Amino acid sequence: MDYEAYFKQSVDQIKAEGRYRVFADLERHAGNFPHATNRRPDATEEVIVWCSNDYLGMGQNPIVRDALIEAANTYGCGSGGTRNIAGTTHLHVLLEEELAKLHGKEAGLLFTSGYVSNDAGISTIAKLIPDCKIFSDAWNHASMIAGVRNAGCERAIYNHCDLVHLENLLKDTDIDRPKLIVFESVYSMDGDVSPIAEICDLADKYNAMTYIDEVHAVGLYGERGGGITEREGLADRLTVIEGTLAKGFGLCGGYITGSAALIDAVRSNAPGFIFSTTLAPPIIGAAIASVRYVREHNELRIIHQERSEKLKQMIRDIGLPLMEESVTHVVPVLVGDPVRCKQATDMLLEEYNIYIQPINYPTVPKGTERLRITPTPLHTDELMEDLVKALVEVWNRLELKQAA
Ligand SMILES: *Cc1c(COP(=O)(O)O)cnc(C)c1O
Repeated sequence: MDYEAYFKQSVDQIKAEGRYRVFADLERHAGNFPHATNRRPDATEEVIVWCSNDYLGMGQNPIVRDALIEAANTYGCGSGGTRNIAGTTHLHVLLEEELAKLHGKEAGLLFTSGYVSNDAGISTIAKLIPDCKIFSDAWNHASMIAGVRNAGCERAIYNHCDLVHLENLLKDTDIDRPKLIVFESVYSMDGDVSPIAEICDLADKYNAMTYIDEVHAVGLYGERGGGITEREGLADRLTVIEGTLAKGFGLCGGYITGSAALIDAVRSNAPGFIFSTTLAPPIIGAAIASVRYVREHNELRIIHQERSEKLKQMIRDIGLPLMEESVTHVVPVLVGDPVRCKQATDMLLEEYNIYIQPINYPTVPKGTERLRITPTPLHTDELMEDLVKALVEVWNRLELKQAA
């Protein structure tokens, strides 16, 4: 049996569809973000990163770096076990309290990533409730889909942010049957925001629990960085608020927050929590510093929004097809073709030292391939002018679509 041939054939198939991914070999420069070194086989180049989800540059914040080193020197590097078997440090307890407080919830629970928190959180909550039915937004992230599937219960997918469709599906289900609605606050490829208050109204009307993924909003929205639910004063209406430490907070790890009873039940039942070595103390120490810093520095959020608004306006002004769905920090520019999308980003990287990953199917629907640009507070006016100049040239050279 030629097993290797199957692996190769699988990759060949992906290449034939233009979906083969090559990772940029990048070294970001602590203290000089968004500058980075790009290592190519033939050359080493200084580039500007325009697509990082380290939205506020917290991954290189000096206070966060110091906290990481201090925690390593105090507690050592690895956690040494699962939470149950020697892996819990006082830092874990403090961070869970900090996150619960951030979202106004009774308790929080850490996972090794946002992906695991969604997979383990959604599946465990649904499994604990007899005959639970899940209602899931069609655009939900792969990690939420994994959680919904692993729950093994009946599920209904509603059209993206479609309240009428969601209500019809809820109406079709026995009012006394347990229900869980799972959705995101900010959908990060289009940058649109879901109608959270209205979804909570439906949840009240039809006796449903709600689980919101605030991964692209924590640290970024609300007076203290509690996300869109904080900004809109809705946090207390959600059963579970989930987030990541990897994006706005610049590190890694994920979490859920909710009532003490719910969190205790997930802690006691979720295999993805119980059977995995917990996050390393240096990461936890750094995360505490990052969450506190971000909470106290609302000006970071104000500058972040201003940078994004400014770049959007510059892109509109030069007539490129900004996707106006975005009402958030995400700046998506439509290409509408996978091969050209990849060509455009290759050209930007190789000839203009601008790094933007192409966003192609299956991350977004075919025909909506795009550049997804994420300016941070550390992207200056000058960098933006360079970016826009390069975009105009690339658009002209590849004869890409202009704004309608
Ligand atoms: C990135 C992402 C996750 C996963 O978070 P990680 O901490 O990176 O594992 C979950 N949900 C959404 C919507 C995401 O974009």
